[in-house]
Amino acid sequence: MSLVVEEQDIKSLVDGLNFAEKVERSLHLIREAYAEFGDRLVVANSLGKDSCVVWDLAKRVSPNIKGFVVTTRFKPEETKSFMAREVARCPELRVFRNDAPIPDELYRENPDRCCDLLKVQPTRQAIDEMNVGCWVTGLRCTEGRTRTDFQEIEERDEGLLKLNPILIWYEREVWQYLALYNVPVNPLYKLGYRSLGCATCTRISTGADERAGRWIGTSKCGGECGIHTRPLKADYQI
Ligand code: SF4
Repeated sequence: MSLVVEEQDIKSLVDGLNFAEKVERSLHLIREAYAEFGDRLVVANSLGKDSCVVWDLAKRVSPNIKGFVVTTRFKPEETKSFMAREVARCPELRVFRNDAPIPDELYRENPDRCCDLLKVQPTRQAIDEMNVGCWVTGLRCTEGRTRTDFQEIEERDEGLLKLNPILIWYEREVWQYLALYNVPVNPLYKLGYRSLGCATCTRISTGADERAGRWIGTSKCGGECGIHTRPLKADYQI
């Protein structure tokens, strides 16, 4: 596939490119992928700050690019309201959620299973129903310990490309972009959150690791919900 490039020295790009060069690189990656995949290029919009950047970049490439949001019954009220505003503003965003009954405290007893049911399975459903050939994410390699080994273009699942167009951006560059382009963000950031998730599993943290407030107090602290690590083309059951 023409988009798959030789493995880059990601670290040298993180520190070697300035803000404007990173924006251009990200736009170029999305543009190339959209030229190749057309409607089968879909943005996974988590509604976090990084996704807000990617969604805005994608819309600059083409207003026709579609996206999906995976939400859960445990999202904070602010996130639910923000989602409602974003979906009203951008009807090309589809929302997926798993409302099947699960044990009340599964997030405490087995957070991996809870994330699998509430986040990974709806993501699989979105990829299947939207016939996605290339999904676009806001993953960044400077976010924390679990995100250092990704590439800008990956084929973790056979037949499903993943594009991480802002992989090499620093957190401050994300805020720089959002401020410069007046992109709306979730008001929870005003309270001090640096990474947003379900209300049950997310706290404000002040440590160096941007994701340290996720699943705090569990073995999953600062970890992953699974959409970037689990197979996504597998059969789903909701
Ligand atoms: S973040 Fe917590 S509540 Fe949300 S799906 Fe994962 S374990 Fe469940």
